[in-house]
Amino acid sequence: MNEDTLPTEKLFQEIHDLRAALANAQAEIEHLSQRNQEVQSELDLADTGNLALQHQANRYASATLLHKAAVISQKISTVREPDMLATRAIALIRSNFELYHVHIYLLDAAEQVLRLHHGSGRIGKQMQAEGRIISLQAEKSLVALAARQRRMVLSQNVAQEPLHLANPLLPATRSELSIPLEYGRTLLGILDIQDSQINRFSPAEVDALVSLAGHVAVALRNAQLFSERRQIQQKLLYQANLLQNVSDAVIATDNQFCIQSWNKAAEKMYGWKSAEVLGQVFDKVVPQIYGAETYEAVMAEFLARGQWQGRVTQQRRDGSQMPILASVTAVKDATNTVIGAVAVNRDISNQLAIEEALRQRTHSLEASNEELAQFAYAASHDLQEPLRMITAYLQLLASKHQGTLDEESNEFIAYALDGASRMRQLITDLLAYSRVGQKNQTFTQVDLEKILEQVCLNLEMQVKESQVIITHDPLPTLVADKTQMLQLLQNLISNALKFRSSSEPKIHLSAKKEKDRWLIKVSDNGIGIDPKFSQKIFTLFQRLHTRDEYPGTGIGLAMCKKIIQKHGGEIWVESALGAGSTFYLSLPENST
Ligand code: ADP
Repeated sequence: MNEDTLPTEKLFQEIHDLRAALANAQAEIEHLSQRNQEVQSELDLADTGNLALQHQANRYASATLLHKAAVISQKISTVREPDMLATRAIALIRSNFELYHVHIYLLDAAEQVLRLHHGSGRIGKQMQAEGRIISLQAEKSLVALAARQRRMVLSQNVAQEPLHLANPLLPATRSELSIPLEYGRTLLGILDIQDSQINRFSPAEVDALVSLAGHVAVALRNAQLFSERRQIQQKLLYQANLLQNVSDAVIATDNQFCIQSWNKAAEKMYGWKSAEVLGQVFDKVVPQIYGAETYEAVMAEFLARGQWQGRVTQQRRDGSQMPILASVTAVKDATNTVIGAVAVNRDISNQLAIEEALRQRTHSLEASNEELAQFAYAASHDLQEPLRMITAYLQLLASKHQGTLDEESNEFIAYALDGASRMRQLITDLLAYSRVGQKNQTFTQVDLEKILEQVCLNLEMQVKESQVIITHDPLPTLVADKTQMLQLLQNLISNALKFRSSSEPKIHLSAKKEKDRWLIKVSDNGIGIDPKFSQKIFTLFQRLHTRDEYPGTGIGLAMCKKIIQKHGGEIWVESALGAGSTFYLSLPENST
């Protein structure tokens, strides 16, 4: 029986145990799930903490990056040489940001291209040596795109960037960042950064690099301006050195008119040694008085035109004054800013003394000329009267003793009458000549064709006698003195008649307009003139023939010359013996 109940009891016992175990397990499960919840909430708490930590870490990272950028900016800001600045900026960016490659391209606005200015490392140098150029219009180039659109262009994976231009020299490039280098509104170039990792640039890093590019641009422009200015100053000093030995004072100043260079002539002229005046304001060293203009007017013109030229009176070291012809030119930099001035000053004391002497001599010459002309006029005028008497009494003597005088005496009277007649002609011509200088001219419209008609009428007898053919092209109407124009043409034509050749004598007149002057030609086919006398024949009383060969007084051409000069013109002759002569008259259209 015991054996029978035993298994049942055992079973119950087991069931009881199992139940107890189940209850334990359930309690355990409950405990565990409670713990689980606790852990979960702890985990949640940790997550929140983690996020805050992450955020803090990010902020820390971007602050670090900005700090790095600021340190680089500071390091390059003092570099004054553009090449050195670019090299240093590139090296610092590359090492501090641990990048694969960094380049700076500069814009050539005229050529519309971007030229590699500097690149990092050995490959950068190689690219530089090859003269890498990217067209601003290049479609496949992030650098060109950034320049065109004036914005930062970023590719975190260049393999998927259709606009990325792969460079065989930089095979490891995986990401690229191109940032415009802008100074104000001016695009100077592009800062191009490449790295060998995909997704290399965090937003914080991009921010830091963009801000750094702004600083690089400013520093680069400053360095460019500084070096331009230094180059100009060096050039100026070089030129000033060249000008050390010229005879004019050459003085270079900065834009505050502080003396930068002072040549030897300036030392001699002003009495100040170069070492004594360098750095001093010019006007303080050399007090000056402007002639007709005020200092303000001179400055205004100098600033407006970048140049001033005029006469001033300047003071030497010993207080004495001298007249100066000054020429001051502004020196400008590439941005057209005046950075200095160069003055070339000449002491014109001697020149003024010569000018004054010349003025006085001209004045006294004019006075004595006037006196002489009046004398010639008065003399020839007054000589007419006694001459008339001599002629009249000679004629009376001849008629009274007609038939009673011997042949020789008659001959003497005839000689005396001939002499008196020649003298009358001489006096008439001289009078006419001196009148040209004396009489006030009356300028009117003078038709030269009408004048020629009158001349032909006046010389009708001679023309008929000599059978000369006078022809002419259209002749102009000038503003001139009518009487003198008549004297002029009549003298020339009567000469052409007188010195005609024996066969078919001809005279031809023509005219040609040259700007505001007329060139009138009077040509004949007469005996001609030896060219060596072409000047002499215009001088008073100069004749090339004896009176027996050709009558005349030698006054005609001198008078022509005087008339022409009184009209502001010129007269000359082209001729050769036996080949006719051409007299040229160049006359202003309006002589007034
Ligand atoms: P004149 O006619 O009274 O001799 P001019 O002063 O008119 O004085 O001329 C000076 C000289 O120039 C003349 O003597 C003559 O030798 C020369 N001459 C002037 N006109 C001509 C001419 N048309 N052909 C040749 N010789 C001329």
